[in-house]
Amino acid sequence: MRNILDSSKCSKFQPSFDNRECDFYQYAEDSEMNPIIGECGFCKRPETYRCVADITRSIPLSHSSVGNFLACHYYYLLTKIIGVEIRPPHLSIPLKAGKLWDCIKQFYLGATEINDRDGVVFKSPWDVVNHYEIDPKTVAKVRALFKAYKELEIKVEPGYELQAPVNLNYDITLPPTSFIPSINVGSEAINLWQERIDQIEDTRIWIFPLSVSGFYDRKYPNYFTEDKLSNRPSYLLDPFYIQSQCSTYFLADLNLEYCIMEVVQFPQQKELKKKEESPEELSKRVYDNILSRPSNYFMGWDNKKRMYGVKFYRGEFDLKATEERLKQVVVEIQAARWSNGFYKNFRVCGNMFNNPCEMRTICKNGNISEEMYRIRGK
Ligand code: SF4
Repeated sequence: MRNILDSSKCSKFQPSFDNRECDFYQYAEDSEMNPIIGECGFCKRPETYRCVADITRSIPLSHSSVGNFLACHYYYLLTKIIGVEIRPPHLSIPLKAGKLWDCIKQFYLGATEINDRDGVVFKSPWDVVNHYEIDPKTVAKVRALFKAYKELEIKVEPGYELQAPVNLNYDITLPPTSFIPSINVGSEAINLWQERIDQIEDTRIWIFPLSVSGFYDRKYPNYFTEDKLSNRPSYLLDPFYIQSQCSTYFLADLNLEYCIMEVVQFPQQKELKKKEESPEELSKRVYDNILSRPSNYFMGWDNKKRMYGVKFYRGEFDLKATEERLKQVVVEIQAARWSNGFYKNFRVCGNMFNNPCEMRTICKNGNISEEMYRIRGK
């Protein structure tokens, strides 16, 4: 067990307001490795991914890290700053199955190797199975899906780029008035209204970059596709729930007119009660079922075209709201880094995007089990 959650040793963790202005100017000019005036000295600690006390270096956003921050600030601290991640064998079965399906499809569509986190390179689907220690019955179900995919002669449009990067960049401009709430806290205490009035006279602004990154599963000149394997496909076929990812990807490229969600139902076959079933027998049972009703597994199945997927147009997503949210969230993340405001949101522990939060044992015990978790390499 290790306890790196206590940052009280860091003198700069609760910075004084006197050096705030300096920090924001530095923030705009910073590069990832340059030393910054006022660093507390712990910023190069090798056991953490990012220094918890460093509030100056920018952290790139992705649509998922924005969602994680909004769901639980403490989850964001653990994963994006301390760098905690669950060891691959301890991931949930749906996540492992999704990873395997994603890699199988990428290999099938032309990838020669797939880069995972921390420099791990997969050269075949079996590398994925071994790395994530995926159990034989889950492998059997995913194999059945892929065998059926080939048997059904499913095609995709040619002319794609696999794993094309998402690059979305904005400049965030903050006037001084952003920092002081416009409320009156009483005549005896600091009158924040007066602070605000004083600041209105202040014409300085702070500009810092917002960078949003990610990867399109397959990108074409005017659309993109996303591969998903899910226990609940309907969730991924509702623009309301895929708003964050799709809007971000549309915002990053003005030429994109629509997207296709290629969603596959993860086989739900239960264990047989009457007899022990081998993985091979399970795979055969699932495969037969998929071939008998492909539209139940490959969402949007088109028998004539031998394709599947559901199309959503750019106009079905509220891009303006997403852009405003990204710009606001980056400020809120910076505010949380400033004030150590990474509070826990116990409302979502049991249901973080349809699954229990994988950080629960850390939050329950206050320690990071080295058997279950690891810290990402810098
Ligand atoms: S277990 Fe709950 S409080 Fe802890 S990180 Fe997850 S969602 Fe946040």
